[in-house]
Amino acid sequence: MVSRIIPVETFDLVIFGGTGDLARRKILPALFKRFCSGQVPDGSKLIGAARSDLTTQAYRALVAEALLEFVGDIASDAETVRAFCEHVHYVSVDARGETGWSALAAELSPETVRAFYFSVGPGVYSDLARGLERHGLVGPETRIVVEKPFGHDLETAQALNRELAQHFDESQIYRIDHYLGKETVQNLMAVRFGNMLFEPLWNAQYIDHIQITVAETVGVAGRGDYYEKSGAMRDMVQNHLMQLLCLIAMEPPAQFEPDAVRDEKLKVIRALDAVQPHHIVRGQYTAADGAAAYREDVDNPRSKTESFVALKCQVNNWRWAGTPFYLRTGKRLRARDSEITVVFKDTPHSIFGPEAGRHRNELNIQLQPNEGITLNVTIKEPGPGGMRLVDVPLDMSFAEALGPKVQGSSDAYERLIMDVIRGNQTLFMRDDEVEAAWAWTDPIIHGWEARGDVPKPYDAFAHGPDDADLMMRREGREWRGLDK
Ligand code: NAP
Repeated sequence: MVSRIIPVETFDLVIFGGTGDLARRKILPALFKRFCSGQVPDGSKLIGAARSDLTTQAYRALVAEALLEFVGDIASDAETVRAFCEHVHYVSVDARGETGWSALAAELSPETVRAFYFSVGPGVYSDLARGLERHGLVGPETRIVVEKPFGHDLETAQALNRELAQHFDESQIYRIDHYLGKETVQNLMAVRFGNMLFEPLWNAQYIDHIQITVAETVGVAGRGDYYEKSGAMRDMVQNHLMQLLCLIAMEPPAQFEPDAVRDEKLKVIRALDAVQPHHIVRGQYTAADGAAAYREDVDNPRSKTESFVALKCQVNNWRWAGTPFYLRTGKRLRARDSEITVVFKDTPHSIFGPEAGRHRNELNIQLQPNEGITLNVTIKEPGPGGMRLVDVPLDMSFAEALGPKVQGSSDAYERLIMDVIRGNQTLFMRDDEVEAAWAWTDPIIHGWEARGDVPKPYDAFAHGPDDADLMMRREGREWRGLDK
């Protein structure tokens, strides 16, 4: 099968924070992979920028090391790495000060697409935006990529949006959520809107409930300072889980175009009910199986920050009235598992009698660790002895059908960075979307703070607090297991 990669024009990409963890682990490997696919045209420059005093030669060595560490399997050919590094440059710039800007300006080409990736701490975003404009680096072909966290609450997100709007048009701002760049997330839209099969059933009449889980096995060690001020609600629910919820629940946009898609996502967030306190469970992991407790990881024996959230919410519109959405995310859980499951209702009447048991169709969209979509259908168990029913998966993991194309498919950062270069904002969050998400999240967090809520303990590497299971059981439902 011939791959259809859309060519890109020559571009300059400046990675502010080019020596940091995200740049080394994700951005530079993604650019290297795109280079290997022929998508970094001759004349394009990849410019690392940070305060550290490095030469371009030293930065190239850092880049080559990062490639070996994080994509060693494809970066083993020294000649390819060397050819990639020809595009790589380094400028020492203090985004908050006055040094380095003219050297940066001198590196940039006057007429190409110019993207600035804000891979610095969120405290630097505003200074950086101001600095870019003050030093004359912003033109019509300029784009900025802003990492999470985008604000700490509604007020700070609004302030940041206002600040960015003073220097950039909204069409130049790319608020990145790497979950939206995942192949399966886009496949979710293809499955929903490219087939006749699902959309007629995609509503409260046929769907019992929907579960969205983002479970991690890692703890917060090493990121404790940030996480203590954030917690799972701000770190995961307000952005990643909300975005997945939007894609599952939104109405079909008229076109697969940035504002058409983002308008529909925004309507979903605005239709969300306030979450009732008894429909939300916070948790915090305790020591188990050799792992330290959350409070040790963050060095705060009194911490009330949640490392786990499970909640039930409702999209209040005609399509979804009566179909709950259950969201769950946490650290130090039993398995790394990100998935969305659409659980269809029982058939209205079973002609096979009670002994056939309860069988439901489930559409499972697996995002991590293995991307794929599975539809469970009920069939007769083979063999004699009457009509026994069994659920079997119709596997749409694409690997067999599409083979090497799937193996070589790009990761989320590759796709999203190339979308920035091409000027396609479809998979990026708009200012009003981010603010609406905070407007929904803030009252929940303020409620916890006002009540002095203490998260429920749960064992590291287990399934989360028992109360999260109880919340489901009270409604006659259960979470999908984390260790399928
Ligand atoms: P990090 O490892 O601490 O790196 C920060 C980078 O910013 C360094 O290169 C640092 O280099 C540079 N920097 C700091 N202050 C600067 C200034 N005034 N001017 C210019 N450069 C400056 O942080 P990170 O983990 O890469 O995270 C970067 C951003 O991505 C953060 O907003 C984070 O929330 C977000 N993010 C990270 C991840 C991840 O997996 N790491 C995931 C999602 C989002 P110098 O000290 O030399 O200046």
